[in-house]
Amino acid sequence: MNINLYERMAAEQRSQKIFEQAKEYACAYMNVVEEMDVYPSDKAIADLGTFDEPLPEHVNNAEDVLAMLHEYGSKATVAQTGGRYFGFVNGGVVPVAMASRWLADAWDQNAALHVMSPLALTLEEVCERWLAELFGLPAGTAAGFVTGSSMATICALAAARDTLLERKGWDTRRQGLFNAPPIRVVVGEQAHSSVFKALSLLGLGKERVETVPVDGQGRILPQKMPSLDDTTLVIAQAGNVNGGGFDPLEEICAAANHAQSWVHVDGAFGLWAAASSKTRHLVEGLESADSWSVDTHKTLNAPYDCGVVLCKDRNALVGTMQASGSYIQYSSQRDGMLYTPDMSRRARSIELWATLKYLGRQGVGELVDNLCTLTARFAQELSRRGLHVVNEVVFNQILVRCASPEKTEKLLSRIQKSGKCWCGGATWQGEPVIRISLCSWRTTEQDILECAGLFAKYYAELS
Ligand SMILES: *Cc1c(COP(=O)(O)O)cnc(C)c1O
Repeated sequence: MNINLYERMAAEQRSQKIFEQAKEYACAYMNVVEEMDVYPSDKAIADLGTFDEPLPEHVNNAEDVLAMLHEYGSKATVAQTGGRYFGFVNGGVVPVAMASRWLADAWDQNAALHVMSPLALTLEEVCERWLAELFGLPAGTAAGFVTGSSMATICALAAARDTLLERKGWDTRRQGLFNAPPIRVVVGEQAHSSVFKALSLLGLGKERVETVPVDGQGRILPQKMPSLDDTTLVIAQAGNVNGGGFDPLEEICAAANHAQSWVHVDGAFGLWAAASSKTRHLVEGLESADSWSVDTHKTLNAPYDCGVVLCKDRNALVGTMQASGSYIQYSSQRDGMLYTPDMSRRARSIELWATLKYLGRQGVGELVDNLCTLTARFAQELSRRGLHVVNEVVFNQILVRCASPEKTEKLLSRIQKSGKCWCGGATWQGEPVIRISLCSWRTTEQDILECAGLFAKYYAELS
């Protein structure tokens, strides 16, 4: 390394000026996030062109690098941490979780092995136990901490595939999938796209699955399930990504357990229903599944990115994620890379631990209840103002349509350009809908009332 560069970075580290600067920029951002455009203006997006410059030849000034992010980056952010972002299913962030993320950034831990970070791995163990308790899963359930539910689902389905094949005397890890005995995959017609992606990545084929018809809310009709056997992987969901509907887990798991099938539950945002006595009924029976995937960056409002794969049979998960190498030093304690596809990983457990430590069982329940209460209120206010809520509002999702598909699309576009709030769109039963997802603790009743007012105002202007 160039000695000048070394001295320069050492001085930056020592003086801490850029860190103070970053803190100031971040605090300035947090002070305006409630007032700024929820979606960046056309100008802010056009100004992102500033970043599109040739690769720098020489070392730049650190303060200038940060200032450029502040000037052009922050203005082009989507105000997801404010109270009026209702797009996709994206979470806000609990303040102490963000603060502990900053601290964790300073520590820059690698969670691959216990020997690399006893701290990160101790906190993984604690979070594993706490999450199992919070969701009411069997004691000893294993957890792997990954980027999100997509990756968590890949991990769980890989463990399921290997376990089902092992029962037939086939070792996928050694023998691969060519010539393996077939296994069956049963999914609901409205399973999330990430499930089909996982199936295609895992050699199970996204089109060779047996799909189960669903009801008007996208929930698996248990009486329409095919007969199951011990070579079947059943994939259910807790929380339809559009309408928020929950598959009847109790019936699905009972049938699957009887046949010795493997049940995976995609509970990206909906598994959190288990954490409140008011919504627990939605996931009744979930403890009888074999694996679960869940995000902490959605309903829980932990920072991006963190998803968790949970697996009842620890050996199944660890067996599938096994890696070796003469330099890899496993310990008698938990090694993170035994539970996930990655080796090097950031220590997500630090801010996840902080979120759970801060909220506790009661706080998580309150967070979930508050989102549900506000969602129900939002739906009521929209109906009252002449919009059609087309889904059964059971959790945090609302699907809205206008008198005609054209009007729905125009209203959605008007809302997306308003800067006052942001929602996405979807197709529901063949028609376009506006899709509202409440995921941020920051959303207040006033936000809901004002946004419902905006919907009504823009709708009236269309006519
Ligand atoms: C968001 C979501 C996923 C994907 O999760 P990521 O964290 O984005 O990978 C999967 N399933 C459902 C139901 C979801 O809502």
